[in-house]
Amino acid sequence: MRKLGLPALLVTDESNVTWLTGFTGDSSYLLVGPKLGVLISDTRYTVQISEECSGLDVEIRDARRPMHDAVATVAAAARLGALGFEAHSTSMATWERISGAISGSDGSPELVSVGMLVNELRSKKDSDEIAEIRLAVHQAERGFAAMVSVLEADKTELEVAHELEHLMRRFGAEGPAFEPIVAVGPRAALPHARPGSTRIGESGFVLFDWGAKTTGGYRSDLTRVLLTSKIPPKLETIYGVVLKAQRQGIKAIRPGATLKSVDRAARRVIENAGYGKFFGHGLGHGIGLDIHEEPRLSPVAEGVLEPGMVITVEPGIYLPGWGGVRIEDDVLVTRDGHEVLTSVPKRFEDAVVQIA
Ligand code: ZN
Ligand code: ZN
Repeated sequence: MRKLGLPALLVTDESNVTWLTGFTGDSSYLLVGPKLGVLISDTRYTVQISEECSGLDVEIRDARRPMHDAVATVAAAARLGALGFEAHSTSMATWERISGAISGSDGSPELVSVGMLVNELRSKKDSDEIAEIRLAVHQAERGFAAMVSVLEADKTELEVAHELEHLMRRFGAEGPAFEPIVAVGPRAALPHARPGSTRIGESGFVLFDWGAKTTGGYRSDLTRVLLTSKIPPKLETIYGVVLKAQRQGIKAIRPGATLKSVDRAARRVIENAGYGKFFGHGLGHGIGLDIHEEPRLSPVAEGVLEPGMVITVEPGIYLPGWGGVRIEDDVLVTRDGHEVLTSVPKRFEDAVVQIA
């Protein structure tokens, strides 16, 4: 902020507010600067704020007082020459309301849109955050193993997805990191398939994309394909290509590696095998308080990896009407390379399961 010449930043991104303050409620903004920190919230959260972040200045509004009014009051009291905004999380309507309210106050500050300032700080995790992500991985993996042991051909995608969520909670998760994907056969050709009424046994394979969220708010994100009956030879070929691509991607992870080069290392394998046009998304993304956060691994991503970043590596091949394979692990960038945090087996022979 000093570099940008900004005396204050209005943080509106909910996860950024949580990360900076420890406050886990919603609908609250943080006005923060080298010399101030005020959480602007409402009466529902008075007690929670005193529990989660006592010592922080707060501006509490009630139902009669709109948010933009409270922001204007705090900004006026701080006599700011300029005020930064998080463009990615401020709607046009919010921007208009706040700029309107602020220009009405004394010595109205100049409004400056900033990039992903806080999000970039969040991309490098400290040891407590890494411990939380390890826990989220553990909860997801225990839930998955328990789910596999009771998998049946007659269950629907939706039933299995609910079961997986329930089992992750049994192992201590606050909930799923996102709604799990359970996609049987051709449904696995949709990278973001929603579980439906298809039964597990209707095809020879099923894709799971799932993760857990800890009570501390941190998330994990994994994908595996399980082979449940007679295996089409094409599936074995595609599985092999995706797994090789994933291993190459992981191998490329080290501090200083460009985000592009890691994507490239994996994508090259898929392209060389002739499936390049069936891998449309980026290789991976950061995880943390959000399921998708900085940095992104993609052919157009700018930047380099730094120690403390935790990213997914998830190449896939999707053949419309036939099905798809994606394999996803969570990887920590360490000082001299990387550590794969997830440990669900992923060799082709490991993916073969017997179900009732
Ligand atoms: Zn995923
Ligand atoms: Zn992911």
